[in-house]
Amino acid sequence: MASNASKKLVAVEDDIAHRVASRTSNRQKAAELEPTTDAQGLVEFACECKSGDCERSVRVPLYVYRRLLDSDQYLLQAGHHAFTSYRTIVQLGLMRIEERA
Ligand SMILES: [Zn+2]
Repeated sequence: MASNASKKLVAVEDDIAHRVASRTSNRQKAAELEPTTDAQGLVEFACECKSGDCERSVRVPLYVYRRLLDSDQYLLQAGHHAFTSYRTIVQLGLMRIEERA
């Protein structure tokens, strides 16, 4: 039987894997020549939060996300949970960009 500590560790690893997977698929989408946009010209990206079961998406203009990738300092989030090690620098409706503090 797994101890609580090792269960917690597995959960943390899952969460990191989730965030890395979101970033990877977002990065691929941002690299497309003509990603699918909505009527306002926004591209739908996956929330880059740490919760492994989060399936929210965030809509941002493509250039904003590309700039965010360039610096590698920022996370795109659906604005439903903040990290203590990050501070919010942009919040627009449900979209939030967090900067590593
Ligand atoms: Zn999320």
